[in-house]
Amino acid sequence: MDFEQTESARMVAQTAKDFAEKEIRPYLMDWDESQTLPLDCLRKMGELGLMGILVPEEYGGAGLGYFEYVNGIVEIAKVCGSVGLSMAAHNSLCSNHILSFGNEAQKKKYLPKLATAEHLGAWALTEPNTGSDAMRMKCTAKKEGNEWVLNGTKCWITHGKSSDIIVAIVRTGELLDSHGMTTFVIERTNPGIKAGKKENKLGMRASETAEVIFDNCRVSEDAILGKEGEGFQQAMKILDGGRISIAALGLGIAKGALEASIKYAKEREQFGQPIAHFQAIGFKLADMAMQIEAGELLTFQAADAKNKGKKVTKLGAFAKYHTSEVAVSVANDAVQIFGGYGYTKDFPVEKFYRDSKLCTIGEGTSEIQKLVIARELLKGN
Ligand SMILES: Cc1cc2nc3c(=O)[nH]c(=O)nc-3n(C[C@H](O)[C@H](O)[C@H](O)COP(=O)(O)OP(=O)(O)OC[C@H]3O[C@@H](n4cnc5c(N)ncnc54)[C@H](O)[C@@H]3O)c2cc1C
Repeated sequence: MDFEQTESARMVAQTAKDFAEKEIRPYLMDWDESQTLPLDCLRKMGELGLMGILVPEEYGGAGLGYFEYVNGIVEIAKVCGSVGLSMAAHNSLCSNHILSFGNEAQKKKYLPKLATAEHLGAWALTEPNTGSDAMRMKCTAKKEGNEWVLNGTKCWITHGKSSDIIVAIVRTGELLDSHGMTTFVIERTNPGIKAGKKENKLGMRASETAEVIFDNCRVSEDAILGKEGEGFQQAMKILDGGRISIAALGLGIAKGALEASIKYAKEREQFGQPIAHFQAIGFKLADMAMQIEAGELLTFQAADAKNKGKKVTKLGAFAKYHTSEVAVSVANDAVQIFGGYGYTKDFPVEKFYRDSKLCTIGEGTSEIQKLVIARELLKGN
């Protein structure tokens, strides 16, 4: 495995880092407090190519690979997890589903505006009663003449209110039939789409999470991505890749928390010396750094496999599970290192602490990652 960073991967990291310092850091606590989705910021990221990193140039994207993508998310998430989450959901769930399974006409129609973030994307799988167990989904699409009519509610959808394009996986066959689900791409202008409740969240507060309600939402056959009945299998493949982006998100949050902790430990004095001189703090920093390094290796291993077109079910789950748990543990240690100041909103670590928890839940919980890994290990044995 050779994880040496290419020139383009380094450039994306630098671009994202500079952008995050200038356009995100000064505003992130205002967005967090008011739960504002920073649409202008996401559009500016689109102008820089960060919202279409994986989209080929022929469809208006940057045409880069997973190393660049991981670097971009890490640098954004080092500053703000919410913007990192929005970037991940837009790129690897919505746009990547269209790129992976759309026909030429659908790619030409949707990808150029998604790649520049002129249009914001959402991806809707989860429902109120079906999170981990997506196969039991109740949201349906029924055929009426030449049209499909969608009814039901998707929940926890990133950009559920503000997205322009929604990729939704809904039931078109029998309950529990793994070939009874189909993916549709739907435009917000469709009168059958309504935005429901927006969640008031612990963390990731600037990344909008809301219900999407389909109320006699009529679409033509052209709205189907791939073939009828393929939706569930498509979703699982998209999540395999999507998990690399959540791994990158966790990695970024953990790195941000460690950087802040090192700086603070050198500055903060107690008992006449910087707290960094206490072994208790130094050992904490050492553990944080080692866990992050291990997470980075797992994430780039999965990214490398994805770049090579290999199956990443197990590697993506390894990366996602490990870095998510590391993000939570590192953010927790960071708050401890900051002491009372870490418990306030004047310092960055309380936000890392709140944001990190999403990583162990979104795109498959840590428990589901273990289930995926175990299944892969036991296959054929
Ligand atoms: C901020 C945010 C953004 C999100 N964005 C999107 C999005 O854009 N699109 C989308 O479709 N969804 C999105 N989600 C939904 C997310 O993917 C689900 O929350 C997640 O899959 C878990 O589902 P659930 O919340 O229903 O939990 P449940 O499935 O009800 O799980 C509850 C608990 O039971 C455990 N559990 C469940 N089944 C098993 C099992 N078989 N074995 C062991 N333990 C189990 C879980 O690990 C968890 O600890 C988002 C969620 C959040 C919080």
